[in-house]
Amino acid sequence: MSKYFGTNGVRGRFNELTPELTLKLSQAIGIYFKRGKIIVARDCRITGEVLSSCVMAGLVSVGCEVIDIGIASSPTAEFMIKKLKTNGCIIVSASHNPPEWNALKIVDGKGIAISKERGEEIEKLLDRIELSSWDRIGKVKRYGNASEDHVKAILEAIGMLKTKTKKTKIVIDCGNGTAALIAPKLFREMGVEFLSLNSHPDGRFPGRPSEPTEVNVKELLAMVKSSNADAGIAWDGDGDRVIFVDEKGRYVIGDRVYALSIIWKLNEQKNGDVVTTVATSKAVEDVARKYGAKVRYTAIGAPYLCEEMVKVKSVDGTAKPNAIIGGEEVGGVIWPEFSLAKDGFLTAAVMVQKICEKPLSEWLEQVPDYFNVKIKMDADAERKIKIVEKVLTHAKNNKLDFIDIDGVRINLPEGWVIVRASGTENYVRLFAEAKTKEGAEKLAAEYEKIVK
Ligand code: MG
Repeated sequence: MSKYFGTNGVRGRFNELTPELTLKLSQAIGIYFKRGKIIVARDCRITGEVLSSCVMAGLVSVGCEVIDIGIASSPTAEFMIKKLKTNGCIIVSASHNPPEWNALKIVDGKGIAISKERGEEIEKLLDRIELSSWDRIGKVKRYGNASEDHVKAILEAIGMLKTKTKKTKIVIDCGNGTAALIAPKLFREMGVEFLSLNSHPDGRFPGRPSEPTEVNVKELLAMVKSSNADAGIAWDGDGDRVIFVDEKGRYVIGDRVYALSIIWKLNEQKNGDVVTTVATSKAVEDVARKYGAKVRYTAIGAPYLCEEMVKVKSVDGTAKPNAIIGGEEVGGVIWPEFSLAKDGFLTAAVMVQKICEKPLSEWLEQVPDYFNVKIKMDADAERKIKIVEKVLTHAKNNKLDFIDIDGVRINLPEGWVIVRASGTENYVRLFAEAKTKEGAEKLAAEYEKIVK
């Protein structure tokens, strides 16, 4: 069992992810990355400076060469791995969490985020950290151009390095996060007219909470309407997740952002698999199927998505085609030819390009509507296992179509249900989705009864 690593790095409040622990973990990570060249980045949180200083001290003390790119979005830092040919990257950022949290997100030289399982290997190194000799310690180099490099690469990827978009007007909400360092630059270069909200970085997130839920981006919804904009865009604190607002001022939830991205990708590239987590809306599978693409499901968490996307051979040895796109329900989309990061800026740039063809609401007509119900059930460690087992037995006994890589997801003609135990807290989540609100409620009630 890992002591510190969760599904995507090490996360905690300042008294949990302390400077001392950060330094120790970074030494172990440096050794795990063969004392090579490592990028260090941070978001704009108040504890970011002290923690990233500890990360750098830890890395150089075991002989790593550090490239400090300073405050940057997570997709920017991850994009730089390939560009600067490094052995990995440590990002000091707690993503969408409240400001008192921080985290270390670790990505390897291939661009794959470090999972809990690989985190356990790193933790094993904690007891046998060998410092470099005094004359062999690493150096810290500063690199101040990462956001510019990232913007340029996005423009190149979407074929807009030299052209500008048609007259498009958007509203962006950077949520005082690292999106503020890159989104305004990107859209200025694209020739887009934009209004912005919360576009100065501030680690206290004074404008809105950093998770771009519908409630949290109310101001954006209103502004898209009042300014007659073609779309709205909001990111989470570190810029990997993105949500949209259509020209009618309607919120476009994360898995619909992903479904749209699949449509845009499959319009251009016909062959390849689509990868997503077991918690994603059926809308994703529906649009993929329409284009004849196969959907591969993974456990929840960015590391599992990345790992699956680059997996060419499956466990039984049969060949798997490379995935052409990956994504999760909260609005993180991976465009693998660009990088294996969820890139909220590339996703947004593609959207802005596509709404020059037709309005976002018309694109959304191609994504089937679903309704869902979420239930949280209290359960201690023992009961958590029991509940999930009950659902698995039910699925097996009734010969239902199920996936049990992370909790149990059951696909039914009328919709689907997932029952999944929380990894850190004492509850089990039940999530049901169906074509109608009544259908979703019925399904949720039925499975609530099964587990009781
Ligand atoms: Mg994030």
